[in-house]
Amino acid sequence: MAENIIEDIVVPRCSGKTMKVNKGQVFRVIAHEGKQVVDLTFLNANNYKEHFAAEHSAVLNSMQGTGGYYRLNELYSKPPYENVMATVISDSVGDGERGGERGGHFMMCHCSKRLLENLGKPGTRTCSDNFADAFSEIGLNQEDTYDETIFNVWMQSWIGEDGGMASAPPLAEKGDTIDFMAEMDLIAVISVCPDETSPCNDFKAKALRFQVLEEG
Ligand SMILES: [Zn+2]
Repeated sequence: MAENIIEDIVVPRCSGKTMKVNKGQVFRVIAHEGKQVVDLTFLNANNYKEHFAAEHSAVLNSMQGTGGYYRLNELYSKPPYENVMATVISDSVGDGERGGERGGHFMMCHCSKRLLENLGKPGTRTCSDNFADAFSEIGLNQEDTYDETIFNVWMQSWIGEDGGMASAPPLAEKGDTIDFMAEMDLIAVISVCPDETSPCNDFKAKALRFQVLEEG
């Protein structure tokens, strides 16, 4: 199927951005420079209070046999809405053998000021800073509408046997993609994670590429 590229941007390392994705369009994330995670969330473009909820989606997908904390097919908004906002229609890491049991992603929180303080790096730029910049593009303060649980695309983290969080470098390689079909008009809110203190970005923050596509 031919695809028309509506928008095609490279978001620099350590920065945030929003992109409009209309219902029926595909939002594609591309591992532009290799092992780099994107912390991703979505808003209903017509009601900014309706926000993607990652952990809620993980539980719903578990019940439906379509995923869990490491992979999602259906991305739900937080209660009281609980609508399917987007559907994963292609996932070159999670759909293949590389994803394994964990699927190559992680539905959890993002890095923040307090988290970096605990990692011994106070004052380091975080995904929380990136999200604040991205939200400002659409006239929102971060505290206006927010669910901090997000889709950590390519984040290779899991809950270890001690109950704590464990991480390894992403399974994604340069050129890997994940595609989200918009089931409503969406604002994709992007944080290209700045973390260089953990394996999450293989200890080096990189740029990522994003496209909005339409079937031709
Ligand atoms: Zn981060």
